[in-house]
Amino acid sequence: MAVDLAIEARERGIKYFLISFVDLFGTLRAKLAPASAIADMAEDGAGFAGFASWLDMTPADPDVLAIPDPSSLIQLPWKPEVGWLAADPYMHGKLVEQAPRNILQAMLKKAEAAGYTLKTGVECEFFLVSPDGTSLSDAADTQAKPCYDQTALMRRYDVISEICDSMLELGWAPYQNDHEDANGQFEMNWAFDDALKTADRMAFFKYMAKAIAEKHGLRATFMPKPFAHLTGNGCHVHVSLWKDGKNVFEDRGDPLGLSKEAYNFIGGLISVADEMCSITNPTVNSYKRINAPVTTSGATWSPNTVTFAGNNRTHMIRVPGGGRFEFRLADGATNPYLLPAAVLAAGLDGIAKGIDPGKPLDINMYEDGHKAPADVKKLPLNLLDALRLTAKSELLRRELGDEFVDSYVKLKTKDWNECQKQLTPWERATTLDC
Ligand code: ADP
Ligand code: MG
Ligand code: MG
Ligand code: MG
Ligand code: MG
Repeated sequence: MAVDLAIEARERGIKYFLISFVDLFGTLRAKLAPASAIADMAEDGAGFAGFASWLDMTPADPDVLAIPDPSSLIQLPWKPEVGWLAADPYMHGKLVEQAPRNILQAMLKKAEAAGYTLKTGVECEFFLVSPDGTSLSDAADTQAKPCYDQTALMRRYDVISEICDSMLELGWAPYQNDHEDANGQFEMNWAFDDALKTADRMAFFKYMAKAIAEKHGLRATFMPKPFAHLTGNGCHVHVSLWKDGKNVFEDRGDPLGLSKEAYNFIGGLISVADEMCSITNPTVNSYKRINAPVTTSGATWSPNTVTFAGNNRTHMIRVPGGGRFEFRLADGATNPYLLPAAVLAAGLDGIAKGIDPGKPLDINMYEDGHKAPADVKKLPLNLLDALRLTAKSELLRRELGDEFVDSYVKLKTKDWNECQKQLTPWERATTLDC
């Protein structure tokens, strides 16, 4: 039975609901509605001026009405009087085609028509920095190889444990937290689930990490590359496809434990990874994480080519064990809904066309990249190149829609142009005396 939000509010002591949607740039937009108004809003939606967010609308457009999905309700563990709801934007009585959560749901329906359910698990790396964002929050966190550093992890115990306690309370089945490969960087893992649930949780996780860090006088950032010399924030996604309650990616007889469907899905991703790069790596800053020079820890842990391997972290796709693979391309700025939507679009196309991903390439891609076959595809070097590939992508146009591709490329190209207006100190230093 559908969740009745007014009843939930009474039973759980919720005074306010956040009716939220994620726009094309990944920003969470919300209205805070008192519980007394939720019955109406659950039906008619909360009104937003679409132009005021990144949805590619005009100031003359009518209201976007965001209709909350009652099954997405998350009661804020650190402020239980507030309930968060993921909402689906509508305009003119129709779903807004370019709204990220709508895009993911449309893609999941196509998978469902073929009997498939997509399950994903994400790893949202983040840094804890000073409130002004300019420096690490922990001046003592200076090891060259800081990954898994127990002492630095425990200096942030109060923040990390509060976030983990919250996930436990919410029933997300978190299972580990660690200090990651950059000074000041952390990762917290929870169990995979249906792709829409994981996407809602990812949107909420980013908000929760920021809110709890702020409570402790710090700032959490998912920025792809906040410090040039340190490893950046990845957002790896682990993927499996299910049919009739069974993981169709699993084949115990295969050396990597993967089925033909899994290999074809990977083949689909390999064939369009460069075209979807503007979605997985959506900011100007993103291109300082991929294709990056080596960091002080010794490795960037991010890919520079479109390759796949067994349990080897120097490639874009890694197979850590049977029945799933890890897609390591995306960064912390990726949109929680567009990431799985694009992955699914590429993967289903790979299955439909039976695309062969070739043999896994088990070399150290950071050291021995020159030994890779000459036809191995490279990733775009900057956001503009990535956007040009997306604009021309037949697959993304067909599966995610022209409306989305045109809006996305238009808004993101504006972003690129804004960046190009900047005069950097480097330009001045190297060009002043030309
Ligand atoms: P690593 O750091 O080795 O890449 P993590 O443990 O940090 O891996 O994250 C693994 C993620 O993959 C978790 O969210 C986990 O629940 C998820 N996962 C595990 N098995 C599957 C599967 N079959 N399908 C999708 N996700 C999975
Ligand atoms: Mg007003
Ligand atoms: Mg991990
Ligand atoms: Mg990690
Ligand atoms: Mg990983």
